[in-house]
Amino acid sequence: MTEALYMNDSYLKAWKAKIVSIKDNKYLVLDRTAFYPKGGGQPWDEGFIIKDDQKFKVVYVGKFSGKISHEVDKPGLKEGDEVSCEIDWERRYTFMRHHTASHLISNILYKRADAKITGNQIELDKTRMDFSMQDYSPEKLRAFVEEANKFIDQDLPITIDYMTRDEVLEKPELARLAVGLPKNIKEFRIVRIGDIDEQVDGGTHINHLKEIGKIEITKTVNKGKNNRRMYFILI
Ligand SMILES: [Zn+2]
Repeated sequence: MTEALYMNDSYLKAWKAKIVSIKDNKYLVLDRTAFYPKGGGQPWDEGFIIKDDQKFKVVYVGKFSGKISHEVDKPGLKEGDEVSCEIDWERRYTFMRHHTASHLISNILYKRADAKITGNQIELDKTRMDFSMQDYSPEKLRAFVEEANKFIDQDLPITIDYMTRDEVLEKPELARLAVGLPKNIKEFRIVRIGDIDEQVDGGTHINHLKEIGKIEITKTVNKGKNNRRMYFILI
């Protein structure tokens, strides 16, 4: 089982690892990795796996049957190799800022308008969020984003914690998300923003809200009845 280093340290950029297995000369599993595999609306990390003086570019990272698989751009690595790994930090840090921003917005949408997030896709230059909300108005959404930006000004800390299934089930807001998760998961990773938000989540996040900058809505799309799509950027 690969140790997923990004779960406890989102800021780890370089580390040493060993190749546990390799398939078709380009899909490899490491004993420990900070490369985030695509999931939860957050894209995969890119970067390099380095063996001696040879650099292999990591072009895709995904989770397949519970295994984190790294795809590299060329053959040359083999099982048992000791390697150095480096994350394309600019790319990852952008995703972290967007991911935490999306938690903040979804918290306010839920608290103020009982709105539910139905989809979420982070990209390098923007994030898309789909939500269902009754009595939507552009003014309301603007006010929610203003509130989010006020929390950013307060620079609340983001913390990572773990909870048992029973502890999660005691909290209705968390349980809502946890019921669909496999029964064999005993421990849940909780991402908290100050004391205003907590979510069961496997993504990478910043340490302080100020790192987000400022959230700005660039576009909203009416997706019928109570469904809306919005795009935000960070400035
Ligand atoms: Zn998340």
